[in-house]
Amino acid sequence: MDQFMQNIVNTNIKDLSPQEIEKFVLDNDFKPFRARQIVKWLYKKSAGSFDEMTDLSKDFRDLLEFSFSLKPSLELIDELVSTDGTKKYLFKLSDGNQIESVVIPEKARNTLCISSQVGCALGCTFCMTGTVGKIRNLTPSEILDQYMFVNQYNAITNIVFMGMGEPLDNLQNLVKSIRTFIDPNCLGLSPKRITVSTSGLVPKIKELGKHVSVNLAVSLNAPRDELRDEIMPINKRYPIKELINASVNFPVPNRKYLMFEYVLLKDVNDSDSDAHTLGRLLEAIKCKINIIPFNEAYPLPYQSPSWDRVLKFQEILISYKINVRIRKSRGSDILGACGQLAAKYPSKMVKDTTLAQN
Ligand code: SAH
Ligand code: SF4
Repeated sequence: MDQFMQNIVNTNIKDLSPQEIEKFVLDNDFKPFRARQIVKWLYKKSAGSFDEMTDLSKDFRDLLEFSFSLKPSLELIDELVSTDGTKKYLFKLSDGNQIESVVIPEKARNTLCISSQVGCALGCTFCMTGTVGKIRNLTPSEILDQYMFVNQYNAITNIVFMGMGEPLDNLQNLVKSIRTFIDPNCLGLSPKRITVSTSGLVPKIKELGKHVSVNLAVSLNAPRDELRDEIMPINKRYPIKELINASVNFPVPNRKYLMFEYVLLKDVNDSDSDAHTLGRLLEAIKCKINIIPFNEAYPLPYQSPSWDRVLKFQEILISYKINVRIRKSRGSDILGACGQLAAKYPSKMVKDTTLAQN
């Protein structure tokens, strides 16, 4: 096979989980510790070629070179910095599609919001990514490279799968990437610092829980089926009761709480009555709620509620003894806030809203 054909056929080695790399090593009659050497080169030393892996024999490096590719799976095309310090990275994938990752700096942590798909199939009516439709799943290497790239310039402490896409609609690649994130020989992150956010693909919640124990955030956004059906069409397939059932049975890490996200849409799901319904729905469950005032973005047909309304909604939930936090909008001036990511808007719109500091 010539070099050109080989590069087309070859899998990116970062698409393999550490377990799959070990299997490859054993299948080729090498000792298991060789797998640890490879992943250390990949993830601890960010090797750019197999030739750099100098503690492996030349024959073994040639085998790796023949079997896999090690090209970066994404290329940075823009970086926008918000007035509040939030940074948005726009990446181009090898097929020309674009995705975004957002860094949210807080006092004691730097959270990276990662994309799991190009677009999203689920069509929630308040979400920019949903307006694009699903273009494709991201590969494990594309998920991991978002972190590896951004971590060079920001000491990332936490990862949330809250960027573009529905992570549970890309379960296999999600699980592979999480295995690499948490393996001590690879990226070595604590599972307590990883959060998967889902709109509620019930069977996939159950399946994810069989493979890994990470934090789970469930985007509830409505306390009644009839309203949730309207703003999150997935609810017609997996209604609230089933969703809550699957969520409470999910194995979150020790001393961690199940999380519910609730995007407040003015005059849609922000009434006192809805706050009470939500309170009654969740009062008996060990959980935390994040309320997120809607981030407005053209052409989404909703508005953000007044601050007074947000506080009143929170107050009602607190009366049910629920642990509730208001998640302030971060990076909305660079369209980097929750639900604003789409990577499809005209470039003029990106430039016009850039407020690069420093
Ligand atoms: N698909 C997953 C993860 C990506 S969306 C999910 O739906 O959970 C991440 C979060 O952004 C979700 O909680 C979603 O409800 C929220 N979100 C989407 N659009 C938003 C918007 N315009 N304003 C505020 N939050 C939004
Ligand atoms: Fe997809 Fe999540 Fe947006 Fe819904 S909120 S369209 S599931 S990315």
